[in-house]
Amino acid sequence: MPWDSILYEKIDNIVKITMNRPESHNAQDYHMIDELDEAFTQAELDEDVRVIILAGAGRSFSSGHDMSSRARPSSAPDMEISLEGLEGRMWRERRIYFERCLKIRNLSKPTIAQVHGYCIGAGLMLAAMCDIIIASEDASFQDPVLRMGFSAAELLVEPWEFGPRKAKEFLWTGDSFDAREACRLGLVNRVVPRERLDEEVMGLAGRIAITPPIVVSLTKRDINETMDLMGQMRSWEYHFLIHQIAHNTEEAKRYTEEITAAMAKGELKSFFEKRDRTYEDK
Ligand code: ZN
Repeated sequence: MPWDSILYEKIDNIVKITMNRPESHNAQDYHMIDELDEAFTQAELDEDVRVIILAGAGRSFSSGHDMSSRARPSSAPDMEISLEGLEGRMWRERRIYFERCLKIRNLSKPTIAQVHGYCIGAGLMLAAMCDIIIASEDASFQDPVLRMGFSAAELLVEPWEFGPRKAKEFLWTGDSFDAREACRLGLVNRVVPRERLDEEVMGLAGRIAITPPIVVSLTKRDINETMDLMGQMRSWEYHFLIHQIAHNTEEAKRYTEEITAAMAKGELKSFFEKRDRTYEDK
């Protein structure tokens, strides 16, 4: 197996791809994102495969992008081109984040995200690219990126998944919600006890796998196309551009510098405590 940050298991006509960096709650660095992309391509091209499951090893599904010094670069050949500044970031984020998310969303085969523990930021984005999400009772959903201040309108997912009002509150506060709330909002299909999660997801994958693949695939295409006609793809394109603009505001650049410096010193927690004190006790 050529991959070191994911597992790929084929069980009859179901493939289970498991993010496997449990020490960091499956934080996604470029290297892992490359491997996920290759694994989804392999499952898509394998004629025996009817359903693809995406899961996380250890305590969580995924804690988002790996922003730490441990993060490894992409090994994809075209990533050797290094562009600086706005152009470089825009090119990289389009190739590595945006296009690869859309590729998962537009696979011809049905996908199920099996979510437990943390499902944060890019972890949530990845789960939301799947057709179905099954969560365990311990799952929690969060997008703290705006609070961190070094990015922008993280909207690829939210208003489509749980409505504009909840999306604004979710993004502006960075607060999490649990699996029951996620189910109530329509973000996840169902919530199951942690110890039954594997079994429930496998059971559902098996149910889908006995339906003739062509009608499963055409139905997926049909529903996704309907979402596109409602503007989903256009809104994602717009989001991508806004996200790039926001990265390049003077304020965002200042936050990024401050946070990167605090991270390098291992003082992120105290940085936030200091920055976010209420004005009374400053
Ligand atoms: Zn970005």
